[in-house]
Amino acid sequence: MGGLTSGRTPYATTPEDHECLKLDVNEFTDALNSDEETGGTISWGNTEISFAILDEEPEQLRLQYTTTRDGETVEHNYAIRVTRTECNFGGTRPWWQCPRCGDRVGILYWPPAARKFACRDCHDVAYSSSRASGNDDRTLRMRYNRVRKKLGAEPAHPESIEATIPDRPKGMHQETYEELLDELKSVREEWYQKALLGPMKRHTNEAERWV
Ligand SMILES: [Zn+2]
Repeated sequence: MGGLTSGRTPYATTPEDHECLKLDVNEFTDALNSDEETGGTISWGNTEISFAILDEEPEQLRLQYTTTRDGETVEHNYAIRVTRTECNFGGTRPWWQCPRCGDRVGILYWPPAARKFACRDCHDVAYSSSRASGNDDRTLRMRYNRVRKKLGAEPAHPESIEATIPDRPKGMHQETYEELLDELKSVREEWYQKALLGPMKRHTNEAERWV
């Protein structure tokens, strides 16, 4: 068990990523960049989470749901903050700010035994070794890093913040560079859909007002 300096959640067994509900900021980028209020639900087993991006909280994802653990039911209503980094070609890209440690991350996790979303480190989530989609995961990660290599970038996990857009290598044509960036993005998206997403379902509709 961690000492006072550890922000990790102690679980009987370490949760693996395929067991967790994930909140990928890429899935919310359009909504976060839009002027319109957005809302909807995320269903995951018996859990239903309402989410909304509201006018008065433009850089936050408001969440509302109920958990029952060990016979105790708790109502949750909190917001996840968004931070932004500059993009190479102008504009910004959003990231989640982990509600627990404040780190900038692309994906927040909710292990089955937990009550709230937090980053991989805070929930001590292990990379799955034995999931059914393991082959997809491995193949796509290899493809991802082949594209990164062409861009002169170090290997990285598709989830990692290190996988931010590499700079254009010296001597590479802008067109080639942009094609490789597109490829990097599409491999990452495929990895997300096939290897990470799991059984979650998301529906978007009007924002609900329950702040
Ligand atoms: Zn954290």
